[in-house]
Amino acid sequence: MSQEINLHTPQSLDKLQETALLELEAIKNESSAEEFRIKYLGKKGILRLLLKSLGTMAPEDRKVMGAKANTIRALVESKFQEAHWRSNTEDTRDRSFDPGLPGFPFHQGSLHPLMQIRDEIRDIFSSMGFSIDYGPEVETDYYNFEALNTPAHHPARDMQDTFYIDESIVLRTHTSPVQIRVMEGQKPPIRSIMPGRVYRNEEISSRSYCLFHQVEGLYVDENVSFADLKGTLLAFSRRFFDEKTEIKIRPSFFPFTEPSVEIDVRCFLCKGQGCSICKKTGWLEVLGAGMVHPNVFKSVGIDPEKYTGFAFGMGIERIALLKYGIDDIRLFYENDARFLQQF
Ligand SMILES: [Zn+2]
Repeated sequence: MSQEINLHTPQSLDKLQETALLELEAIKNESSAEEFRIKYLGKKGILRLLLKSLGTMAPEDRKVMGAKANTIRALVESKFQEAHWRSNTEDTRDRSFDPGLPGFPFHQGSLHPLMQIRDEIRDIFSSMGFSIDYGPEVETDYYNFEALNTPAHHPARDMQDTFYIDESIVLRTHTSPVQIRVMEGQKPPIRSIMPGRVYRNEEISSRSYCLFHQVEGLYVDENVSFADLKGTLLAFSRRFFDEKTEIKIRPSFFPFTEPSVEIDVRCFLCKGQGCSICKKTGWLEVLGAGMVHPNVFKSVGIDPEKYTGFAFGMGIERIALLKYGIDDIRLFYENDARFLQQF
């Protein structure tokens, strides 16, 4: 950059500084920064030449002009560093990315609400020492009915509308056949829960569906009493619903237990005051249970004189409907993401 400079008056130095600072402001990118650096700060740049030319001045001028020239050089150098950094960061920044904006919501998948309830029930019984067993969904008539003290033509078969595959094969109507398989395969003491899907040939409505999920439980040992049944299910209800939950036991009938009971838990929503979920009764029907019928023990070769046991079952859909205040069971099977993302 060969340019004639005449900088031998303080006023001309002021002018130089002003021009340099203006040009600094115009630096927008790497190439304009480099251009500026060569022009002012390079080996043959204006400021270098200025300092060199001080040698030719009269000593008294040199003192004044030298001090001023050094001040200007220091100022321009530091301002140049700033401008250079600014141009770099501005130049390379991706303007479509604003770190100040909130992120895009990213929905993570989650377990189906029915599976969440199942896992919660499973975890509570696991912590009480129950193991987990599974059985087939396509089941023989023997396991689904006969071994459970429900022989052909037994009136209790009418309690469940069954999908028959042929005369002796059914889609299981409950998880109770898994009890039989567990007792055939294990010797007491037995503590097991058996979650799974079951099928009923029912008209589909907001209250019933052709399939649903149950969790079955079984405890067999010497001296298992009705008090054990009550204590276990009370402990479960208190952990699952609310630590102050009360239960109410009503007589009922199942062919495979004797005596049989239904267990109601105090409504967790209104604490027994009565609300729309509990239909103003203050109680929710959630469990069927009873002492294992001696005929069931006989069918699996367990001595009913030596062993006793209790069994229970609950519907996962029913509990999920109550827990989440849902009024239509079909929602669980429609795979509507707007529904499922709420859980
Ligand atoms: Zn209620």
